[in-house]
Amino acid sequence: MIIVLKPNANKAKVDHFLDTLTSHYDVKVNTWVGTQSTVLGLIGDTSSIDIEYVQAQDFVESVKRVQEPYKKANRKFHPDDTVITLPTGQKIGDGSVALIAGPCSVESKEQICGIAQRIKASGATFLRGGAFKPRTSPYSFQGLKAEGLELLREAKKETGLPIVTEIMRVSHLELFEDVDIIQVGARNMQNFELLKELGKIDKPILLKRGLSSTIEELLMSAEYIMAGGNERVILCERGIRTYETFTRNTLDISAVPILKRLSHLPVVVDPSHASGISWLVEPLALAAVAAGADGLMIEVHNDPSHALSDGAQSITPDQFDEVAAKVRTAAKAFGRKVE
Ligand code: PEP
Ligand code: MN
Repeated sequence: MIIVLKPNANKAKVDHFLDTLTSHYDVKVNTWVGTQSTVLGLIGDTSSIDIEYVQAQDFVESVKRVQEPYKKANRKFHPDDTVITLPTGQKIGDGSVALIAGPCSVESKEQICGIAQRIKASGATFLRGGAFKPRTSPYSFQGLKAEGLELLREAKKETGLPIVTEIMRVSHLELFEDVDIIQVGARNMQNFELLKELGKIDKPILLKRGLSSTIEELLMSAEYIMAGGNERVILCERGIRTYETFTRNTLDISAVPILKRLSHLPVVVDPSHASGISWLVEPLALAAVAAGADGLMIEVHNDPSHALSDGAQSITPDQFDEVAAKVRTAAKAFGRKVE
């Protein structure tokens, strides 16, 4: 962290400030005295120093971080890729392309079990499906809730596919006992109280990027979960808001290699929410593989035109079968592990 002092900074005040910093944080201070101003360089772990506290001192002209504010998610302190391994053996981040597929919402036993059988036959290794749905309108289908989780359990029993499903509030955690990977949706990426609670549990968390969040904000949200002790976080790029209106969101494909450079956590891409259009799912999925994604999350529905949510972006099981085959071919071409 670089701190530039005002030209006539009070020396006693600065010394007191630096004593406070060095006694509370593991940092050393280098001082450069110039003709116009004095510059302080804080060396060490500055991630927990509040930049606004520094800025608020009346003798500080400006302050700049040179080190990222996230530590546990930072590849600098953890050079090896994090591999998430489920008790049932499925892995994310091991060099393969994980395929997470299923409907936006769980709608019925026939629907979820039928889709689960089909996606499994096409090579998916995880089943997704929303039981608690974050919808823009309060009048839209809100999900089958606890019953939806029960139906996911049945689909898991039938197929052996681990379940990925979204949590919306802390008090629901007890219902998520049999869920294998808990999803935090885009709208809750900065629900810090939820993130803190998820930091205390022993399940992988799939953290989706917020609609208008920066890459650093996504990593800081991952840091919230990791700081609580749960280091099994999977990052998900699902498109961000831009001025483009053709697509529902804009897939930030560059976020994939950037996140993988900045962090050791696995990165999954959701081409369904990124585009909102079923025919864009395949090209975006292939682009994600080329960009180095560790997995894909794809919405699949047996009857998209009658889906209770996100039908326009849902592909059919037959289409998923084709996408999965192309993803495997692409993965092989890029030297990735193929299941
Ligand atoms: C979903 O996965 O169905 C979902 C609601 O996604 P997002 O939070 O990315 O909008
Ligand atoms: Mn959806």
